[in-house]
Amino acid sequence: MAYGASGAADEQVAGRGHNVSCSNKDFDFFYRGLEGGQVLIQQCGNCGSPRNPPSPACPECHSLEWHAVPLGGGGVVHSYTVHHHPPLPGFVTPHPVVLADMDEGIRLIGAMDGIAPEDVRIGMPVRVKMVRRNDIAAFRFTTAKK
Ligand SMILES: [Zn+2]
Repeated sequence: MAYGASGAADEQVAGRGHNVSCSNKDFDFFYRGLEGGQVLIQQCGNCGSPRNPPSPACPECHSLEWHAVPLGGGGVVHSYTVHHHPPLPGFVTPHPVVLADMDEGIRLIGAMDGIAPEDVRIGMPVRVKMVRRNDIAAFRFTTAKK
């Protein structure tokens, strides 16, 4: 499969339920979830372990059976960085990028809105909010109260 923004890749994603041309078989459910307004993760169909990022097999029991479950959206900052360069369409530069420990026991990485980069703290409660970036469904983190 070709990756990137080529016309061929755009034709390949038609019918997948999302507009993300760099997706693949493992990530299609995630991007379809975003189009539906949810962040979805995989849950093992054998042992029930949640996992993220998407992968073909469960790291706990190696089962290939899984189903998608929605995240509740709450978590705390595990770590973060600040993106300075290059400027990205739809993002304020610089902006924080957070790795969050989510309530479901998985980690999720994403950009954070509504806070100055120097005010982000490890352990800070965050919440997922759904956004659209041009024609792409996405999510951002925002501050939350615990
Ligand atoms: Zn498992």
